[in-house]
Parts: sequence; structure tokens; C-alpha cells
Amino acid sequence: MAPDSLAGVALAWADQPGDLPRQFESRQALEAELRRLFPAAEGNLSPIRGGRRQAEALLSRVQPARYAKGRNFLDGPVTRLSPYIRHGALILAEVRDAVFARLQAPGGGGRQAGEKLINELGWRDYWQRLWQQLGDGIWRDQEELKTGHHPGAYNPDLPADVAEGRTGLACMDGFIAELHETGWLHNHARMWMAAYLVHWRRVRWQAGAQWFLRHLLDGDPASNNLSWQWVASSFSHKPYFFNRGNLERYSGGTFCRTCPLSEQGCPFDASYEQLEAELFKPLPSVRSVESGRRERSGPRSSGPSAALSRPTRRR
Ligand SMILES: Cc1cc2nc3c(=O)[nH]c(=O)nc-3n(C[C@H](O)[C@H](O)[C@H](O)COP(=O)(O)OP(=O)(O)OC[C@H]3O[C@@H](n4cnc5c(N)ncnc54)[C@H](O)[C@@H]3O)c2cc1C
Repeated sequence: MAPDSLAGVALAWADQPGDLPRQFESRQALEAELRRLFPAAEGNLSPIRGGRRQAEALLSRVQPARYAKGRNFLDGPVTRLSPYIRHGALILAEVRDAVFARLQAPGGGGRQAGEKLINELGWRDYWQRLWQQLGDGIWRDQEELKTGHHPGAYNPDLPADVAEGRTGLACMDGFIAELHETGWLHNHARMWMAAYLVHWRRVRWQAGAQWFLRHLLDGDPASNNLSWQWVASSFSHKPYFFNRGNLERYSGGTFCRTCPLSEQGCPFDASYEQLEAELFKPLPSVRSVESGRRERSGPRSSGPSAALSRPTRRR
């Protein structure tokens, strides 16, 4: 590896005594220094490279016109910019400007085609503003749960098999391994994992949120906690859940093909009606409108199980 590949862009200010080192001969040297500084830390360096240069390279490859249709697929054209935005290597406004510039270039598709991606940037901004208002209140349920279960019915601790990635479900264990090894997960994988933990395992969303924050390179209490609350239904009008058909479709079936529970014992292998009856206590006034519209496979076009849906009621 060339030494300058780790140098990044020079900072505008000089080194101060006590600063952490910024220049390393190689990635191995960086890793060794981190091990020395943080002896209690486990695992290896994430393969995701930090820094402004890498952020700019990713920004130059965004595909806003393809984003809306493909973003729910694990191999879809998402930007992977979140760690850079989270750590200030990019600011939202310049991502927005880059997206518009791309759309207006020949063959770019025009401004309209980028609506979905711009919306997502808007969600990040919105969550941050809410966090400013809520402060530590972001760790509390924003509304009552719509699952029919009392908050006390949820386990406050992360189960050990989840923390260690040995649930026996190829999909969940695969996502957990990716979270641990890279510090990044696709949005749909985050939603599936959060729903699995909160609704199938009946764990409090706060335990999942804390766990994510320990591992995510883009982890921040605003986007993270409010997304967990959206899944749990303390910040949305219905709980988010999914079934096997949905996971299989958007993951290309890769997990189900190798899962030991694929033929028998998959907890997601049921219709939305069956899962709803299994997971939640009846709340007819909340969910009756949706019933009858759910299909065994594929997401609903609206409502909590649609990957694109959003809370309709907020504080
Ligand atoms: C349970 C759960 C936890 C999450 N925790 C975090 C977190 O800690 N930090 C975080 O940045 N995002 C979080 N998200 C939101 C989302 O999953 C990530 O922002 C996204 O997957 C990052 O990948 P990307 O950069 O390729 O996003 P893209 O889909 O390419 O979107 C571009 C940018 O828009 C913003 N964005 C996209 N989707 C969302 C969203 N749903 N909410 C807010 N901003 C969004 C991000 O800044 C992202 O980088 C969470 C979602 C869920 C369901």
C-alpha cells in the first residue's frame, strides 16, 4: 500500500501536543496503533476507509435516478455515504448539491428523478433537529406502543445469541457478522434486524439501539433511535414487520438458500396476517384498515411493512 493512500487531506491547522497521530505508513500500522491505544477493543479494522478523499470518490458515483427503484435491494444503488456524513467528512448540503448537479448533467434524469434520495437526506436533517429538541428524551418512547403489549413485556437486555451472531437464522447471523466486521448495514437489513429483535424476540428497542450504536460507523442517536422507535411503533402509527417473502426478494434469496431453518422452523415464513396474529395483540382500531391488503410475498405499497413508509404521526 502506498504511504500516501492513508494520508488523507491535510488539516488546516497544525498538530497540537497530545493529538492522535494522523500519518501512517500502512493500514497495518494504523491498526497496530489503535490496538495500542485501545487495548480492550475487540475485532479488526473495518474495511470501510475513512476520510474526505474516499467520501468524494463515493459522492462522484451516486446514482440518484436509479436510487428510488433500487434502494430497497441489498445490492441496490445506495450511496454508502452515511459514515462520512456522520463524521463530518461531507455535509448534507454538498451531498444535495452533488445530487442535483448529477441530475442536471446530460442523461442525468432531471431534478424530479432524484426526489427519493433528496428526501432521505431530508430525513437525516429532520432526525437531527428532533434530537436537538428532545435531548436525552430520544431514549424514551415518544408515544405508546401500538403492538398491544405493555412496555414491561419487553426484555431490557440484548440476548446473548444476538450479541454473538448465533441466532441460527442465516439472515440475522449474516447481518450481525456484517455489522461487527464492517460497521455498516443496508437500511433494509437494519429494519429487518430491528423488527426481529423487537417483535419476534420481544426485546426493548433501547437495547437494540444501544447495540447498534456500539458498532455502526454512522451511528448517531438521532437517526438510530428514532428509526428503532419507528420499527417498534413508539414513533409511528403501526409496528414495522416483514415476512420471508419480503426478505427473500430484497436479499436475492442468498440467506434462505443456506439457512438451516429454510425448510422448517423459519419464524418469518408466514403471511402477514398470520405473523400479525402471532406477534401482536389485537388492536383493531389501529390495524383493521390494512388487513386484507397484505400479501404473503412482497412489501405492501404503504403501511408499516413497506420499506419506504414513514411515521405519519409525530411529535
Ligand atoms: C434500525 C435503524 C437504525 C439506523 N441507524 C442509523 C444511524 O445510526 N445513523 C444513520 O446515519 N442512519 C441510520 N439509519 C438510517 C439508514 O439505515 C442509514 O442512514 C442508511 O442505511 C445509510 O446508508 P447509505 O448512506 O447508503 O444511505 P442512502 O440510502 O444512500 O441515503 C443517503 C443518505 O441519506 C440519509 N438517510 C438515508 N436513509 C435514512 C433514514 N432512514 N433515516 C435518516 N437518514 C437517512 C443518510 O445520511 C444517508 O447516508 C438507521 C435505520 C434503521 C432502520
